[in-house]
Amino acid sequence: MNSQSLSPSSSSSDLHHDCWFCDHFSAQPSASLPVMLEGHSQDIRDLLGNRLAIKYQRTSVSVPRCPRCKSVHERGRRYGEVGIGIGFLLGLVGGIGRIFYGDLSLWKALGLFLLFTILDMLILYGLGAFVGWILPRPKGVLGRRHGVTHPAVGEMKIQGWVVSNNQDPEQ
Ligand SMILES: [Zn+2]
Repeated sequence: MNSQSLSPSSSSSDLHHDCWFCDHFSAQPSASLPVMLEGHSQDIRDLLGNRLAIKYQRTSVSVPRCPRCKSVHERGRRYGEVGIGIGFLLGLVGGIGRIFYGDLSLWKALGLFLLFTILDMLILYGLGAFVGWILPRPKGVLGRRHGVTHPAVGEMKIQGWVVSNNQDPEQ
C-alpha cells in the first residue's frame, strides 16, 4: 500500500494503482498483466434449433503490475533471447574460423556453420529460459500465477467466467 491509501476517498482506486505482485511500487498500465478468461458459452444453432457448435466467449482482465514485477515475470523469455544472441555469436565465430582456417570446401563449411549456429541458438535459448525459470524471484515479488487472486478476476468468476488454461506466455 502506498501513502495514498490513507485517504479514504481514493481507497477504491488504489486497488488499481498498487502493484498486485509486490505491493511496493505503483502499477503502470503498460506493465499490467492480462489474465485471460473464458466462459458464457453460447450454443450456435441452425434454423431448426439443432446445436451446431458451442462458442466460448473470451475476455481478459488487466491485473495491475509494476515494471519491476513485469521484468521479473518475463525473465525466462529475456534470458532466452540473450541465449539466442550468444548462440548466434558463437556460431558466427566458429563458422568464420572454419571457413578461413579449416580444410573443408566453402559450401560444406557454410552448411556446418548454419547447422551449428541454429543448434547453438536453440540450445542457449533453452538454457537461458531454464535459468530464468529456476532463479528465485526477488524477495516480495509474487509469481505471475498470483494474478488470478486479484479481486477483478474474482468478480468475473462470480459472473461465471473461468480463468483460461491458455494464458499468454509473453506477458
Ligand atoms: Zn510490483
